[in-house]
Amino acid sequence: MDNCIFCKIAQKQIPGKVVYEDDVCLAFLDLSQVTDGHTLVIPKAHYSSILDADPEVVAHVYKTAQKLAQQIVKNCGAQGCNILTNAGEVAGQTVHHFHVHIIPRYDEHDGLTLAFKDRSQEVDLDDILNCVTK
Ligand code: 5GP
Ligand code: ZN
Repeated sequence: MDNCIFCKIAQKQIPGKVVYEDDVCLAFLDLSQVTDGHTLVIPKAHYSSILDADPEVVAHVYKTAQKLAQQIVKNCGAQGCNILTNAGEVAGQTVHHFHVHIIPRYDEHDGLTLAFKDRSQEVDLDDILNCVTK
């Protein structure tokens, strides 16, 4: 897609530090390196997020992310990793080409905070289940 930075990386129009490549997807180092080894896995075809991507492609991208995460955690000496995708600006997506982050985790002071606030005392789970399954 014109003007999509990740399409340009996939098509080798701009350089990326490529970690892995096959016919369907490409993995390359994220410029920001939230932690050492921070890697993005993208489909070569353009989808704006996981929400509109072909399910077969999503399966391939996540399967690849699992394999690469195992490799990166081992090779970089991490203790674990976060594997996540942001869908929509409200969720923090800044590049609108589906991508999965692999973020190795070294310790609790490694620079990444994902705060999950416990709202269990404020919400009605039955109301929410009705909403989710309607
Ligand atoms: P998002 O916030 O959309 O989930 O993540 C987009 C990611 O893409 C960010 O972590 C950002 O650092 C990375 N990024 C943006 N532009 C480039 C680029 O040109 N090259 C690389 N390697 N990463 C990029
Ligand atoms: Zn694109």
